Amino acid sequence: MAVDDRTLDTLTEENAELLQAMIRNKCVNDGTPESGHETRNANLLRDELEGCGADIEILPVLPGRDSIVARLPGTDPDAPKLMLMGHTDVVPVSPEGWKVDPFAGERIGNEIWGRGAVDMLNVTSSMAVAFRHIAKSETRYPGDIVYFGVADEEAGGVYGASPLVEERWDALHCDYVLTEYGGSPLVSDDGVIVLLTTAEKGADAQRLTISGEPGHGSMPYRTDNAIAKAAEVVRRIEAYDPGARIDDLFTSRVKAQNFDAETEAKLLDPGRINEALAEMEPTLARNLHSCCHTSFSNNIIGGGTKINTIPDKVVLEVDIRILPGETSEDVRQHLLDAIGPELMGSIEIEAIFDEESGSTQSGTDTPLWGALVDSIQMTYPGAKVLPSMVTGGTDARFFRRKGVPSYGAGLLSSDISLGEFMSRFHGHNERIDIESLRLTTKLWLDVCDRLWV
Ligand SMILES: [Zn+2]
Repeated sequence: MAVDDRTLDTLTEENAELLQAMIRNKCVNDGTPESGHETRNANLLRDELEGCGADIEILPVLPGRDSIVARLPGTDPDAPKLMLMGHTDVVPVSPEGWKVDPFAGERIGNEIWGRGAVDMLNVTSSMAVAFRHIAKSETRYPGDIVYFGVADEEAGGVYGASPLVEERWDALHCDYVLTEYGGSPLVSDDGVIVLLTTAEKGADAQRLTISGEPGHGSMPYRTDNAIAKAAEVVRRIEAYDPGARIDDLFTSRVKAQNFDAETEAKLLDPGRINEALAEMEPTLARNLHSCCHTSFSNNIIGGGTKINTIPDKVVLEVDIRILPGETSEDVRQHLLDAIGPELMGSIEIEAIFDEESGSTQSGTDTPLWGALVDSIQMTYPGAKVLPSMVTGGTDARFFRRKGVPSYGAGLLSSDISLGEFMSRFHGHNERIDIESLRLTTKLWLDVCDRLWV
């Protein structure tokens, strides 16, 4: 909803304070069921939203891992319902890399510092503040607005979105979702480009059991040692190049980075992209590589039992991220191409995750996309808003698989470049500037004004 500058100042201040409190709640998710403690942030959000006029419910999955949903009913039960979804957990820190206490939620100059300041407590808090502001006002939109503060995004949604979307659709039902991440503007002489997320890669990790023949360690000559074989398997997977896929999503991603013309041309050419990536700063090269390749990372290995025994079994686990349209069959074919049929004869392969693995994508031919594009013009007039893909997983996938268009959005100040923004995710010295909190809060209010017209 339209707000004047003074109201927006107040909301921004509320947003900053809520973000600080959420950082201090230290909802660190290390992947174990007993970590996270998101109940702390769920209770904080309940206290913040209580009395605003919305229906609020705490959604338990495991003790300590509560999520929260709040629904503000619209005036027309048939109008599409918009969800604002933010996760309440954060990833662990390595404190020695930080200049400040990562959980003090300090405000230093015009920035809030701390774990979660960009991933994504800033967005979760801005959504809560915008939602509360609408709820408290006289304004009612045709469709429901649903606020969802969800646990366990950082470890796959096992104690959050995954079961809740399946079992509590009565509480979560919606037609559109806004969540992380996007909104970093590239300002150049050619105008402004803002990337939002419409797709994410799929995850189809595989466990390879590599077999050999046991024997006495004192006589290794011409034996079939599973560790030696596994070493060759690892080497071949590392050397494998599945080829680059240069599609529209990748093209927007490259264009939003403002490379010189020569680098851009190379990056958009499957035959020359490796040349450009090899010359680039590694963090950026890694991200761009993942955006256009199926990726394989040999992450866990174990084998051998006794020092005098030739091992007959090694288990290798490979993190595999797939592009839109790729299936488990494609993954098997990639592994066969990488490893070769002969070695493959002594390997058994099984999928590590039970979850549906494919990449998810939402089209941009929706009223919500139009509302986002128009709302971003309020801050960056003439900005080109482009769809892009994230390489990791977000909770958007659970909604896209239910057929609900879901976008990663936000709006940042032009002080933060795309590269800088991405390096703060799970990085040291995570922080956000107050201006970005202001722009993101305003974005949610503007989108609500435009979605139902
Ligand atoms: Zn996140």
